[in-house]
Amino acid sequence: MSSTVTPMMAQYLGIKDEAPDALLFYRMGDFYELFFDDAVAAAAALDIALTKRGKHLGEDIAMCGVPVHSAEGYLMTLIRKGFRVAVCEQLETPEAAKARGSKSVVNRGIVRLVTPGTLTEDTLLEARAHNHLAAWVEVRGEGALAWADISTGAFHVTPCPRVRLGPDLARLGVRELIVTESAGVEAVADDQGTALTPLGASAFDSASAEARLIGLFDVAALDAFGNFGRAELGAMGALVEYVEITQRGRLPALRPPRREAANALMAIDAATRRNLELTRGMSGGRDGSLLWAIDRTVTAGGGRLMERRVSAPSADVAVIHARLDALDWAVGRDALAADIRARLRQAPDMDRALSRLSLDRAGPRDLGAIRDGLRVADDIHDAVSDTDLPLDRSDLVGQDALRDMLDAALVAEPPVQMRDGGLVASGFDPDLDDARRLRDEGRGVIAGLQSHYVEATGIASLKIKHNNVLGYFIETTATHGETMRADATFMHRQTTANQVRFTTVELSELETKILNAGARAQEIEAAIFARLRSAILDQSDAIFAAAGVLSELDVITALADLSRAENWCRPKVDESRAFEIAGGRHPVVERALKREGQPFVANDTLLTATDGAAIRLLTGPNMAGKSTWLRQNALIAVLAQMGSHVPADTAHIGIVGQLFSRVGASDDLARGRSTFMVEMVETAAILNQADDRAFVILDEIGRGTATYDGLSIAWATLEHLHDVNRCRALFATHYHEMTALAAKLDGLENATVAVREWEGDVIFLHEVHDGAADRSYGVQVAKLAGLPDAVVGRAREVLDALEAGEREGGSKAVIDDLPLFSVTPSPPRAAKAENAAEIRLRDVMPDTLTPREALDLIYELKGLT
Ligand code: ATP
Repeated sequence: MSSTVTPMMAQYLGIKDEAPDALLFYRMGDFYELFFDDAVAAAAALDIALTKRGKHLGEDIAMCGVPVHSAEGYLMTLIRKGFRVAVCEQLETPEAAKARGSKSVVNRGIVRLVTPGTLTEDTLLEARAHNHLAAWVEVRGEGALAWADISTGAFHVTPCPRVRLGPDLARLGVRELIVTESAGVEAVADDQGTALTPLGASAFDSASAEARLIGLFDVAALDAFGNFGRAELGAMGALVEYVEITQRGRLPALRPPRREAANALMAIDAATRRNLELTRGMSGGRDGSLLWAIDRTVTAGGGRLMERRVSAPSADVAVIHARLDALDWAVGRDALAADIRARLRQAPDMDRALSRLSLDRAGPRDLGAIRDGLRVADDIHDAVSDTDLPLDRSDLVGQDALRDMLDAALVAEPPVQMRDGGLVASGFDPDLDDARRLRDEGRGVIAGLQSHYVEATGIASLKIKHNNVLGYFIETTATHGETMRADATFMHRQTTANQVRFTTVELSELETKILNAGARAQEIEAAIFARLRSAILDQSDAIFAAAGVLSELDVITALADLSRAENWCRPKVDESRAFEIAGGRHPVVERALKREGQPFVANDTLLTATDGAAIRLLTGPNMAGKSTWLRQNALIAVLAQMGSHVPADTAHIGIVGQLFSRVGASDDLARGRSTFMVEMVETAAILNQADDRAFVILDEIGRGTATYDGLSIAWATLEHLHDVNRCRALFATHYHEMTALAAKLDGLENATVAVREWEGDVIFLHEVHDGAADRSYGVQVAKLAGLPDAVVGRAREVLDALEAGEREGGSKAVIDDLPLFSVTPSPPRAAKAENAAEIRLRDVMPDTLTPREALDLIYELKGLT
């Protein structure tokens, strides 16, 4: 049993020490190998075979591996499962190592730490979503959050007190958050599904952060970008340091930080986002979300901007007006907007290509992306040149020299990988053309040589072939082997089962020439790639700016398309406290109903607050459309303030500074909170935070507990919203007792959703009116849902008894008197005898009828009744 450590193992252990909390992908030839505990964890996570390789200190070494060419897929799985991966490459060729001594181990080192927040590969990213890495720190009670998307270079910072961290993480969808070890934000990060990465306190030091940022952006002082506080500097510094650590010194083209003022956005907390399904539906994907219903963008960058807008509606009237003006420009130019959209469809993702180029992780296709993107930018600039587009379009042009160079240098469709070459167009570089000619001609000469040997030897089946071990060789069958051996021109190389292989001086010389020419061509292409890359990086600010204008145009033309197709209107947004919607609709429900061929009933909302609160208390039957109405108003506010048209005939919205939405009784068992606890925690957050600029929707708060407790809490909550928060609010409830409050509270009015009763059933009209509902029709709705007749009948009895009891001043006695439940308290209605028309209809299959047959059938049925 050996207890010595092999040199390779010693190297492995040394490198592993540098990244103890990551899985180490240790490059060995064509594989990344994992050892010890890393191997055990990765084999289980990836479902690949766990093997052994030799012994370390007397113990078997566990090992597993993934091929380099398919490593990205495995990386993605590991990152999704919460691992980080350190990628360790060979830093020299095995030959170079040998030259240092026959026992030398190939030099290796970590070239990159792959973590959830630092991905750049298209295959690892969602094209239309940001991948945010953030850092948060508190300095003397002042908090700040800095965030960046490494894959696009966007970099931001904002003041962020501890209470806002959760909402901000939710808004930005932060994948990974860097904090100090003692930050104490585990629960907040966990709530948002954000991975936490602790860094030492020195990484957040504001003085060294300032120096680091000044160096990074090559400026004399940071003042040009904004006036940053110590916490902001610390957060930005830590973020940049972490990027340096993970990218091993190679920094992405981060753009100068943009400071977001504290109250520039509509504040929307995580529960509200979930509840309103702004960017994610209930299933967790995009489906069913507001973003899903409205996103008609055609580029990845536009898709990301749309997501940003939906996630972060503005609270700044000037910003909103500017966006609405740009949108109106597009709405008024149907044909031009369609033309712009058609051109944008050709635009590749310049942001991400640029970022990969700056990290030296790009392929030839990324050069092509910049070339094609700049071409689209130019074309669109021409298309809008004679119009009064209210956007600065100058960034779309000015890259003629770079574009001409890329046009001349690149082939139409550059390959994905650098390895195979073939990215440079012929005619661009005479040396390259020469080398390629030699290489390709060499191949022709080989074919000529083969015919020559066939003729000389008289062996028709003789072939010149190539493999990686022998290079070029002449091959013949064993039967002809002797003939060739007799000829001194042919030198024997190898005998296999059926074949004999030879070479000649001529063939070896030719081979060297071909190889040299091929290697030379590759070298030249690599040099051209590097030149083009640095020419692009020199212009990175301008290219980011052009990409930004394209994304902006994508968003406004997409929203214009939506507005026209769905008949939306421009909202009036101002500093008042108005909330007046005529003919409002719910964009997602309307879209779902449309698919089923059903109409959506538009409703008005009149909720203008002068001073004090403006609250509508909505009562109405189950299934009537209460939740839909509540949410549609919140969504209309989001749409208006993100700068979109809204699904309504007219809309007037005074800026909403905070948006809150809560639904009673939603379980959160995963986080160990009961239904009622969640409800109360969320309600508390609103009552403690909402101010007079807030818009609050509360849907059946107080439902998760006993009736009287629930009613009391709902009652007190409504009074608090009215008297203390003094906000605009919509409050839906089944506690009809609360409608009496309207007489007491000035700012409160009752509303109800109309239904019609017909033969004991309810028909939903979905119309919201002034006034209070008389009852909930819960039993009728339960019947519609298919509850067994016996249960429905019994529920009616209980309800009658309870209502009678209430009238008589106490329900206890009445309930005691209630006969016991029996399976047939009121016998299920006897199946009605079918009439002749029903019998005739039973076997009719509408889909198979011709119009003529259908008409005949109607006449026939009329005759039967
Ligand atoms: P509950 O009290 O049981 O929670 P609710 O009153 O909140 O019910 P919603 O969930 O809003 O009812 O709506 C029920 C269904 O009615 C929706 O799924 C939708 O299909 C339909 N609906 C709601 N509003 C409208 C409308 N304005 N026009 C057409 N259909 C509507």
